[in-house]
Amino acid sequence: MTLDQVIWRAGGCHCGAVRFEAALPQMVKAQACNCSLCEKLGFIHIITPESRFRITAGADRLTRYTFNTGVAQHLFCATCGVKSFYRPRSNPDGWSVNARCLDAFQQDGAGALDIRIEPFDGRNWEANAAALAHLSHEPEAQQAS
Ligand SMILES: [Zn+2]
Repeated sequence: MTLDQVIWRAGGCHCGAVRFEAALPQMVKAQACNCSLCEKLGFIHIITPESRFRITAGADRLTRYTFNTGVAQHLFCATCGVKSFYRPRSNPDGWSVNARCLDAFQQDGAGALDIRIEPFDGRNWEANAAALAHLSHEPEAQQAS
C-alpha cells in the first residue's frame, strides 16, 4: 500500500438520516480539540480535503450552528442532534469528520480503524490553527509544494 492509497469509509449520525463517506489513509491521524465546543461534544477531528469527502444521504436534514467569527459551519442532524462532520474554521476549504461517527470506529478486527489521536490546543486557537491548514489541501497540491 502506498502513502497515497485511501479507503472510502462510511459513517453517519445516530438516527441514520445523515450519511457520509470520507477517503482516509490506512492509518488515520486525528485531533482531539479542547476548545469550548469540541470539549463539550467529544468531537475527534479527521480533517480531509474537499475531494475526499461526500455527503451520501440527508443533506437536507442538516441544521447549522455558528458562533464567534461565524466561519466554521457546525452542521448537525435536525432529528438526532449528532454532529458527524462540519466545515472547520481552520480548514474552510475542506471538512472535519468526527472519527466517532465512522462506522469503523467501534469495529474490531478486519476493517477496524487504525487511528492515532493527538491533542489539539483549540483553546489557544489563534496560535495553533495554522498547523492544521495543510490537512485540507488536495493531494496534488501537497505533492507540488
Ligand atoms: Zn440523525
